[in-house]
Amino acid sequence: QEEIVIIGAGQAGAQLAHSLRQGGFEGPLRLIGDEPHPPYQRPPLSKKYLSGDVGAEGLWLRPPAFFETNQIDHIPNTKAVSIDRAAKRVHLENGDTLAYGKLVLATGTNARTLPLKGADKTGVVTLRSIADVDAIRDGLSSSSGIAIIGAGYIGLEVAAVAKAMGKSVSVIEAQDRPMKRVVSQAVSDYFTRLHRDKGIDLRLETGIESIEGDETVTGVKLSNGDVISAELVLIAVGAEPNDHLAAETGLEVDNGVLVDGSGQTSDPNIYAVGDCTRFYSNRYQRSVRMESVQNAIDQAKAAAQSLLGEDIDYDPVPWFWSDQYDIKLQIAGLSEGYDETIVVGSPADHKFYVAYLNKRKLIAVDSINFPRSHMLARRVIGETWREGLLPDA
Ligand code: FAD
Repeated sequence: QEEIVIIGAGQAGAQLAHSLRQGGFEGPLRLIGDEPHPPYQRPPLSKKYLSGDVGAEGLWLRPPAFFETNQIDHIPNTKAVSIDRAAKRVHLENGDTLAYGKLVLATGTNARTLPLKGADKTGVVTLRSIADVDAIRDGLSSSSGIAIIGAGYIGLEVAAVAKAMGKSVSVIEAQDRPMKRVVSQAVSDYFTRLHRDKGIDLRLETGIESIEGDETVTGVKLSNGDVISAELVLIAVGAEPNDHLAAETGLEVDNGVLVDGSGQTSDPNIYAVGDCTRFYSNRYQRSVRMESVQNAIDQAKAAAQSLLGEDIDYDPVPWFWSDQYDIKLQIAGLSEGYDETIVVGSPADHKFYVAYLNKRKLIAVDSINFPRSHMLARRVIGETWREGLLPDA
């Protein structure tokens, strides 16, 4: 069997290598990653790894010996810099080249930055990797306050952990409610209240004028003139797909590497999986790019099946979660495009769910401390989406 090379040793890359071996692939298998660690899970980074409840070894996706036992050649600290599709070779930053039969891009995303005045000061950070969190934890230990720009999942999770460490925490959000891109008003309202009740200074509809300080950050100046003092500033305004290798080698890219339902790119010898991809969802009738563990795992499994010669058309019910304090938000489906919501249960009891409908069809459910509704929603959306209309009232 011809050699398979995977670029990116994260959630999707590690899963793909595992699934290929599980499925009987016996050829050479290389997993190149530019980080120094064994492949690891990122969700705890902004949760239990930041709080110190889980150490680095608690993040490893497989025991380090797994790769050797399964003859997966994991090469850490190694960055791929270009792809020569005609010669079927990958060029590495260290000057080496690797030949491939099939190549898989599993390069994930980069944290988005903002072109803010002062964003280059010491103490201004983003969060994507173990190294980032180690720096944030160090910074937090010597700071009394942190300012977080962006009230998305990662910003709010870090806010919760920093608050529990006794820090003063401000979260500054340009939109009129947190997590606006992904949840309804009811869910945003719940989390606004939760964070404010915990003592977070959550500023909505607020822009940033500049980041203050000399070399080291001392605070954030807001568009309304207020200055929030903070020795650490986290920019948490989303992520961008790491698709430049693909673009530079002429693969079709559109805010993500374009792949079909088998994970194949516009070059039949190159696949892509995980956060770096965009694909067409028949279920949701639009192209989607997902940033979730579910997608990284399931799309990698599908691509492995295809590489092993099976016909596969990946079209998942997406799901996701976020932990903030002792509250678990679980999301099933994609709510974008909803025209109706139904709230069941009581936000005041910290246990409720919100069903999202489009033309009476159930497209998504957000569950707050309600795992049973989440599991049920995944099944219902999966089984009934074609005819999944609610009965008329
Ligand atoms: P990644 O895991 O990012 O792996 C990509 C790897 O490729 C990285 O190690 C990168 O350094 C490497 N790489 C990139 N370019 C190159 C190159 N040229 N050469 C070599 N290596 C390269 N999802 C959830 O479902 N629930 C959550 O609660 C949740 N919380 C999260 C919290 C945080 C702080 C973060 C950052 C993400 C979270 N996610 C969560 C998202 C989830 O972690 C991602 O969807 C998942 O990791 C995607 O897997 P991936 O393999 O596509 O990318």
